[in-house]
Amino acid sequence: MALETIDLVGGLPGTLAPLADQFRRPITYLRISVTDRCNLRCVYCMPEEGLPWIPKPEILTFEEIERIVTAAAAIGVRSIRLTGGEPLVRRDLPQLVGMLSAIPGIDDIALSTNGIMLEQQIDELVRAGLRRVNVSLDTLREDRFFAIARRKGLQRVLGGIDAALRAGLGPVKINCVVMRGKNDDEVADLAALTRERAVFVRFIEVMPVEDNLDLQRDTYVSADEILAKIGEIGELRPVEGPGGNGPARYFAFEGAPGAVGVISPLSHDYCERCNRVRLSADGRLRLCLFGDQHIDLRAPVRNGASRDELIEIFRGSMFIKPERHHLRLGEQSSRMRAFSEIGG
Ligand code: SAM
Ligand code: SF4
Repeated sequence: MALETIDLVGGLPGTLAPLADQFRRPITYLRISVTDRCNLRCVYCMPEEGLPWIPKPEILTFEEIERIVTAAAAIGVRSIRLTGGEPLVRRDLPQLVGMLSAIPGIDDIALSTNGIMLEQQIDELVRAGLRRVNVSLDTLREDRFFAIARRKGLQRVLGGIDAALRAGLGPVKINCVVMRGKNDDEVADLAALTRERAVFVRFIEVMPVEDNLDLQRDTYVSADEILAKIGEIGELRPVEGPGGNGPARYFAFEGAPGAVGVISPLSHDYCERCNRVRLSADGRLRLCLFGDQHIDLRAPVRNGASRDELIEIFRGSMFIKPERHHLRLGEQSSRMRAFSEIGG
């Protein structure tokens, strides 16, 4: 099949047809997990002892990621988000940011981080081309941070958020997973941060991953309940979000520089607008956050696949991207721990 086809959207000869799935959703966003390892152990994400980590030789190298992104960019992927595990524990991450920002077509590189190592790396990341950052922050209390993340570090996370704002990455997005009895009484305090700073504080319903089904069942708080709690400290009005990629709905207090968002991962509304695929640290292209549909990219890359061959694999993968997930509250998803990257 000829790869140099007519651009179906722009009608420009000599360019490739943009990637879209069988439900005509354009795929413009690629989330890349650069490691499955982490320096925290959040109760909703992984067990205290950690995971059976992927052996290092199976993790994609920077050059391998660069080749995959080059192929994706040629067919319309424009935004990259680096995530994990904790992406900042991957050595020399700024080098990868520099390599990806040099790829023609890539115009947005973002990072999802727990913030622990952000302050020390932020300047280098920004110089390399990082444009946006999401930082996880579930509590403003030291003791609770330890109870949720099973490691100390609140002050470092807060320092990382300030450093990101100083570096001009605003509006910084803050992701907070809300759990009844653990931090749900803090949602108003966290929302109040948006009155002082240009931050988007986004509250995420806890979602089921492998071993946290009980936690999810026992602590689930719906987005509507979260908004009601925040509404007690001031009137919220719906506002535009910071950009087209995300699944969040946004609201703001009168005169606030920032905004509050809610993300309901289990809501099907978001599936209709899904524009993303995910690359796992060991090179699997995952087609749905809650599903197991994936295609291996590592073997072809390591066997010397050309850019055009990788493009064909991307196109083929579109046939197994489901129209929507069918997960409901209390159900277990397939293997998705360490891929749980909802906070985009
Ligand atoms: N380590 C980074 C961090 O914590 O931001 C990036 C990876 S983490 C898996 C990405 C996002 O997923 C974080 O905002 C985290 O809070 C969220 N997350 C992880 N497990 C979750 C779960 N069970 N339910 C809802 N959100 C979850
Ligand atoms: Fe680590 Fe992020 Fe998972 Fe917390 S949510 S354990 S910081 S990967």
